[in-house]
Amino acid sequence: MEKKFFEKTLEDYKDQVWGCARCNWCQNHWGWNVKSAEYSEICPAFGEFRFFAYSGMGKMHIARALLEGDFDYEDAPELAEIAYLCTTCGACEINCQRLQDKEPLKVTECLRAKLVEDGIGPMPAHKGLINSIKQYDNPWMQPRAKKASWAKKIKLKDASTEEVETLYFVGCTAALDLSLREVPQNTAQIMLKAGVDLGIFGNQEICCGSPVARIGDRKTFVDLANRNLELFNKRGIKEIVTSCAGCYRVLKFDYPEVPGTSKIEYKVYHTVEYLDHLIKQGKLVFTKEIPLVLTWHDPCHLGRHCGIYEQPRNVLSSIPGIKLVEMERIKDQAWCCGGGGGVRTAFIEFAVETAKKRIGEAMKTGAEGIVTCCPFCEQNMSDALAQMNNPLKLYDITELVMRAI
Ligand code: SF4
Ligand code: SF4
Repeated sequence: MEKKFFEKTLEDYKDQVWGCARCNWCQNHWGWNVKSAEYSEICPAFGEFRFFAYSGMGKMHIARALLEGDFDYEDAPELAEIAYLCTTCGACEINCQRLQDKEPLKVTECLRAKLVEDGIGPMPAHKGLINSIKQYDNPWMQPRAKKASWAKKIKLKDASTEEVETLYFVGCTAALDLSLREVPQNTAQIMLKAGVDLGIFGNQEICCGSPVARIGDRKTFVDLANRNLELFNKRGIKEIVTSCAGCYRVLKFDYPEVPGTSKIEYKVYHTVEYLDHLIKQGKLVFTKEIPLVLTWHDPCHLGRHCGIYEQPRNVLSSIPGIKLVEMERIKDQAWCCGGGGGVRTAFIEFAVETAKKRIGEAMKTGAEGIVTCCPFCEQNMSDALAQMNNPLKLYDITELVMRAI
């Protein structure tokens, strides 16, 4: 029987790492789509550090060398840093699979899990995040009591005691970062206006586990997955909507990959998917015009990791007045914001520099603003805009929907 991902080790990828063709497709924007040399690269880590070890290909060869005993941790003190200077954007994997059928991102995640197991990883800065999750059930060192403070003025059902048709799983970042407070507020109000029977777990919502899954702390991740699944099943949750690309990915694709978990009974949607359904069903009607020229940033964990590309574009195109202009690298070839995979926690400069490159690309379109729907992308890009002193506006898609209804 095929092993589940969270029980696989580097050994399970032995054939793949030997089979890597060193073709470098994992570093570049897919050939037929390239419009300019400036935007021809796809791997933020290789783009920044200009050495093969940092690319998907490099990590395949590091894994091979470790498996074969060609080198050990003593020979390569930079090894952990190289493994963690990767945003887990998945661009290497999607491009490799077009020609070579290898999985450099999965290899990187197994490499991280091995480093954690051997006491080499994660990075020191990740330890605070892990401790916070263990102590407070969120990575932001915030007491549980604050998890629902965004909802004080909104009449929402308590899904931990009342029957609800749809659970709004807010996610730690949208719920606890004060600068993102309008994201859950707008989302909940839009859903209520559309007649959705919506509830939240409030102070009882616990971290989905995405940050620890991506940095290779499998033990903490499996524990969170089991606790969440137990709560969903106990409350009979059949439908979940979430604001966070990271939560969406783990609820949809990672929980089923945890060995021995209880049955997955729910369907999960990201907000943009749900909004697209509501518009198509005639439950959300736009009455106001928003005369803006905007460009869409595809969050990696929503786009490449989960295949959600058209729904946010449908939503934006349905709003009267909005003109959508596209960047050179979009959809499965989009350039990462730089914030994922634990990079923003451990290597903030690399994270923000990567976001600056995305903002430069957005500006080339002539758009007045950049729209996205991932709290992590928003945190990282707003830091980049501030450092650049750049007047380009950054919108969460729910702000525009709220203004148009
Ligand atoms: S990981 Fe895939 S795309 Fe990258 S060099 Fe190896 S075979 Fe080529
Ligand atoms: S996941 Fe992204 S950052 Fe990491 S090696 Fe692959 S392309 Fe580069």
